[in-house]
Amino acid sequence: MNAEAATDQTARTEKPEKAGHGTAGEKGIWRIDADRLWDRLMTLARIGATPGGGVDRQALSAEEIASWHTMIDWALSAGLEPSTDAVGNLFIALPGIDRNAPPVLAGSHLDSQPGGGRFDGVYGVAAALEVLTTMAARGVRPPVDIVCVAWMNEEGSRFAPGMMGSEAFAGVRSLEDVRAVRDAKGVSVADALDALHAAFPALRRRPLGFALAAYVEAHIEQGPILEAQDHVIGVVTGIQGKKTFDIVIEGERGHAGTLAMADRRDALAAFSRIAVALYAQVGGHDDIVKFTIGRLQVEPNAPSVVPERATLRIDLRHPDNAVLERLGQRLVTLCETLAAPCHVSVTPLVDAPSNVFDPALQQAIAQAAERIGEPHMPILSAAGHDARHMAPLCPSAMIFIPCRDGVSHAEHEWAEPTHVAAGANVLLRVLLPYAGEGAQP
Ligand SMILES: [Zn+2]
Repeated sequence: MNAEAATDQTARTEKPEKAGHGTAGEKGIWRIDADRLWDRLMTLARIGATPGGGVDRQALSAEEIASWHTMIDWALSAGLEPSTDAVGNLFIALPGIDRNAPPVLAGSHLDSQPGGGRFDGVYGVAAALEVLTTMAARGVRPPVDIVCVAWMNEEGSRFAPGMMGSEAFAGVRSLEDVRAVRDAKGVSVADALDALHAAFPALRRRPLGFALAAYVEAHIEQGPILEAQDHVIGVVTGIQGKKTFDIVIEGERGHAGTLAMADRRDALAAFSRIAVALYAQVGGHDDIVKFTIGRLQVEPNAPSVVPERATLRIDLRHPDNAVLERLGQRLVTLCETLAAPCHVSVTPLVDAPSNVFDPALQQAIAQAAERIGEPHMPILSAAGHDARHMAPLCPSAMIFIPCRDGVSHAEHEWAEPTHVAAGANVLLRVLLPYAGEGAQP
């Protein structure tokens, strides 16, 4: 954000949102307590804190259990009701009048990358808790439960791939599949999940995949656009589509000094041909596509042995589903054409098309930003989020706030306190229509 906009923000809320504190702010607009939200974010950042100022809070770890204890303490002190489910999602409910009707959900995730920051994921959870705490303090009794959620293992860094909690909830992946996954030390999700549940024996279990009325996720942008455009609120239009592929190129090992070049079936040579073509013809398709070879393993990876096998993982993203589909097919064709004399197998892993978030909720976010005087803009999410899996289930949306220099998944990830408060105030206003009579100041 530039200096001019920063001054504007700071002038309004030097110590962020002093008018908040669960009472009516200026013009009678309900505000969250910005100091409390910030303090809680910094408290959560101490759980799994790294020396460089970041966070390492892996899914189902002792640190995540500690963060649950903290969240549940805050929830109980506000009169909110914590619960969980079979896949280790954490729910905190502001009880509604009809406890059996589909609730409204808002949240994100508490786990982080190994060298993660203090805002990715945890911001959306803390903001949702703050909104519920503000409503509870005002005596709101909504028609249906309004629920803060922390999805299990969004990041996928300890147990891969991520988004286990939201995928199991949405029925995209079975609980059995999720429980069978092991981390690098051989610990299974099943064992880690059972340990998590054992740490909270009193917690009520909700069924997996209960019906939802709506889902709203607040998150830092993890990109540079809002900051560059001097906008505080991103009205997320959708999440760009993503495909991942495991590719195995099989050749034949040989002596680096004796085997003639013409007689080699060198897996790394085949990889080189394929990679050059993929960067040019898939990664170079347009200036929107994102193409990454993020992992490459060579076997036997010995200095004087012709490589017999190359295994790579490709991450391919594009907001246009038709283009993504075409590029995916081109990728397979190029691999198969260029692998000879080696053999190649391409296994599709993730296949998540772009989604469009609910237009009415997008409008509600824009109107909420206007009501509290924050500049807003539509923005496409370049990164994946749990909201992807809620969108097919119920009207869903995301609220973005800027992060400094677009940096995320890094220890120096940073969001301004005023932006943190603004996003939570927008979330509050978006959820107010679900809070019943007397909640429409
Ligand atoms: Zn995240």
